[in-house]
Amino acid sequence: IEVHVCMGTAGVASGGDAVMAALTGEFEKRGLTNTGVKERNCKTKQTGCRGLCARDVLIDVYIPGQGPITYEHVTAEMVPTIVEEHIVGGEIVAKWAAKKDYFEFYDKQKRYVLNDCGKVDPDSLEDYIAHGGYDALKKSLKMTSEEVIDEVKKSGLRGRGGGGFPTGLKWTFCRNSPGDLKYLICNADEGDPGAFMDRSIIEGNPHAVIEGMLIAAYAIGCKEGYIYCRAEYPLAIKRVKKALVDAEKAGYLGDNVLGSGFEFHLKLKEGAGAFVCGEETALIASIEGERGMPRSRPPFPAVKGLWQKPSNVNNVETFANLPVIILNGAEWYANIGTEKSKGTKIFALSGKVKSTGLIEVPMGISVRELIFEVGGGIPKKRKFKAVQLGGPSGGCLTEAHLDTRIDYDSLIAAGAMMGSGGVVVLDETNCMVNVAQFFLTFTQRESCGKCIPCRVGTKTMLDILDRITSGKGREGDIERLESLATDIKISSLCGLGQTAPNPILTTIRYFRDEYEAHIFKQK
Ligand code: SF4
Repeated sequence: IEVHVCMGTAGVASGGDAVMAALTGEFEKRGLTNTGVKERNCKTKQTGCRGLCARDVLIDVYIPGQGPITYEHVTAEMVPTIVEEHIVGGEIVAKWAAKKDYFEFYDKQKRYVLNDCGKVDPDSLEDYIAHGGYDALKKSLKMTSEEVIDEVKKSGLRGRGGGGFPTGLKWTFCRNSPGDLKYLICNADEGDPGAFMDRSIIEGNPHAVIEGMLIAAYAIGCKEGYIYCRAEYPLAIKRVKKALVDAEKAGYLGDNVLGSGFEFHLKLKEGAGAFVCGEETALIASIEGERGMPRSRPPFPAVKGLWQKPSNVNNVETFANLPVIILNGAEWYANIGTEKSKGTKIFALSGKVKSTGLIEVPMGISVRELIFEVGGGIPKKRKFKAVQLGGPSGGCLTEAHLDTRIDYDSLIAAGAMMGSGGVVVLDETNCMVNVAQFFLTFTQRESCGKCIPCRVGTKTMLDILDRITSGKGREGDIERLESLATDIKISSLCGLGQTAPNPILTTIRYFRDEYEAHIFKQK
């Protein structure tokens, strides 16, 4: 009998440690550990996030011959009853067991990349291997590097960090750059408000990211790699550190990976939490010990990146897709999603939605299905107003866009973007001007200051928004915002500045009346 306890950040924050301690104590007190009889031997296992963070602490009770039974909002005080009635007595404690709405959260999802998140112990290499871990690496090592790249190209995988650039093609640029030493970098510097996909993947299944990086390194010809993870993710850092040590000891990393002759060394680099370090040239500068500021391109990192050597940067989710693609084949993967956006996408669903959490859905699902079926709709019987997709660089979509398909191109056509996957739902009580102000405050604060359009332009826009929201708006402010936004988008050096005006532009486009109400109604 095994009881899995959610020990991702949300699980721990909700009291996962206390639940784990209560379970262990209860099993020992009742003599249910080391009984010598498999059916009566009780064990606990920590897992990462299984998705529905809003219901933590979640536990799954596995009794041989039965499917898992999930309990929601578990506290240490509930543990003796669950052990007494369910584990010893065989009767599910129905009042605390997950009900229909819990399972509805998963109905429309396709959890391939997240399949083992919430099932494996993230601190155990043995458990990862028991779930088929590193089989994709072994399969890759039997292929040529070109065959691995071809497989990834055929799968149609596009970068999950926001840009959506075809992954296999990106690898080819780095592979074809001359040089013996090439670097592979995992961008785990997720910093958008409302985004926690990468953190949850690393916390829940760190070896999947390492395995994905090994596959990419083998395909591109990289000998050295870095995982660049923001220091504000202490649990992810702790888990990935242990995973790196364990993988190296077991021969998955090092001079001669699994005796194949392939060499790959992987290190962790902790970032100090600047949003701009998610931009790949700023990230590279930060690893080099420089201030994290974007650099002009060309030269592109594939030609001259880290320490002036050819480098390839992909984000956590992109790497976590690779074992799935290699094991199941490009054709299988390419059958999921839409014509130009293949596979699944992981989103962090938050805001005014009933079921907040981590979800994985096939590309092509509609915004409506995402919010009302997976997310369960808007709580407190309120009306849906808008959804901010793609974080502070993305845009707001309204009720009129609920049937928009979630894929790279449809979202851009609708004025939003996939971004890395933050989805913040807003209801009728949210003021859209305040929402725009919130996101611009964030990007303005995170501007590195290197180029004037972003440094001065976003500050000027924020000053206008501040005066509008404080009742001092002037006639012509909306047009000033639009004009500045267009200039900043065109002339900023990096993606932060180029996309910072998006929330303002889309809220003006769809909620101009709210700006006008702020400016004119108080006159
Ligand atoms: Fe820095 Fe902003 Fe310019 Fe990017 S656009 S380089 S964040 S000032």
